[in-house]
Amino acid sequence: MENVLIIGTGPAGLTAALYAARANLSPLVIEGLTPGGQLTTTTEVENYPGFEKGIDGTELVMIMRRQVERFGTRFVAGDVVSVDFKGVVPSVTLSDGQKLESRTVIVATGASALYLGIASEQKLRGRGVSACATCDGAFFRNQHVAVVGGGDTAMEEALFLTRMCKKVTVVHRRDKLRASKIMADRATANPKIDFVWDSVVDEVLDVAKNTVTGLRLKNIKTGALTEMAVTGLFLGIGHKPNTEAFKGQLDMDENGYLLAENTRTNVKGVFAAGDVQDHEYRQAVTAAGTGCMAALEAERYLESLGQ
Ligand code: NDP
Repeated sequence: MENVLIIGTGPAGLTAALYAARANLSPLVIEGLTPGGQLTTTTEVENYPGFEKGIDGTELVMIMRRQVERFGTRFVAGDVVSVDFKGVVPSVTLSDGQKLESRTVIVATGASALYLGIASEQKLRGRGVSACATCDGAFFRNQHVAVVGGGDTAMEEALFLTRMCKKVTVVHRRDKLRASKIMADRATANPKIDFVWDSVVDEVLDVAKNTVTGLRLKNIKTGALTEMAVTGLFLGIGHKPNTEAFKGQLDMDENGYLLAENTRTNVKGVFAAGDVQDHEYRQAVTAAGTGCMAALEAERYLESLGQ
C-alpha cells in the first residue's frame, strides 16, 4: 500500500512529488505515454520564473525530475486504464494489469491537443498533419504550411514554424485573434506569417498521394470554398483533459475537466492538480502551484488518518 500515488509527470505531478518526497512520504509516480507532459512539446519556455533567459520545455521537466529523484521519489511506467475510488482504499489499474493501492492519489494527467475531427485530417495524421510544431516542424523546411486556430497555442506554433518554413498561413474561424496581445503582436508582425480570416478547414487534400498537398478552406461568412497549396497542417485549436479513466469515479464539468476545490475532488484522499482540473490558466507555473497544493492537501489528509 502506497501513501501517495501520483499520476502524471508534467509540472503538476512532479511538483506534487517534490513536496510529498520532502515530507518523507516516498511518493510513487506513474509515468504514462508522454513523460513530461505538454512541456516536452513546447519550445522555449520564457514564462517560468527563475529562468531569466528562458529554458527548453523538455529540459525544464528533466530538471524537475532529477530534483524529485534526489528526495526519493519512485517512478513506475504505465498507462492508467481504470481506477476504483469507491472502495475503502483508492486503487489504480495499469495497462499491464498491475493494480496499485494508495491512501492518497494525486491526479495530474494533464490535457491533450484537440483535432478538427474530419476524416481527411485523421487519415493524414503523421503524414503532414500534426498538433506539435516542435516535434514535426523540422520536416517542413523551406515549405509552406498552415496553422489552424487563433489562440496562444496557434500563435506559438506559427512563430516556431517560421524558423524553418518558407511561409506560415494561420487559418482562423473569426476575424479577431483570441491570443494574448504579446503573442498576437509577434505573429502579426512576422513577415513570414499571413492570415486567412473567417475560415475553417473543410478538407485536407492529398490528391491520392497520402501526404498533405493542400487545404480546401471554407469562408464561414460567405460559404465560398477555396484551395490553398500547403504541405503541412498544424492544429492549434485547444486541448481536452485526459480524464477518460476517471469517468464515473470523479466529478467532472461538461468538458471533462475534473472538479476540485483547492485540489480536493469529490472523493476523500483523491486530489487533482494541473491542466486536468484547469481549463482557464493552463500554465506550467499554475500547474506546478496546484501540484504543490495537492501534495500539502494529501499530507494533511494522511495526518487526519493518523498516518
Ligand atoms: P484556446 O482555447 O485559447 O484557443 C483555441 C483557438 O482555436 C481559438 O482561437 C478557437 O477559435 C480555435 N478553435 C477551437 N476549435 C476550433 C475548431 N473546431 N475549428 C477551428 N478553430 C477552432 O486554446 P489555446 O490552446 O490556444 O490556449 C489555451 C490556454 O493556454 C490559454 O489560456 C493560453 O493563453 C494558454 N497558452 C499560453 C501560452 C503561452 O503563454 N506561451 C502558449 C499556449 C497556450 P475561437 O477564438 O473562435 O474560439
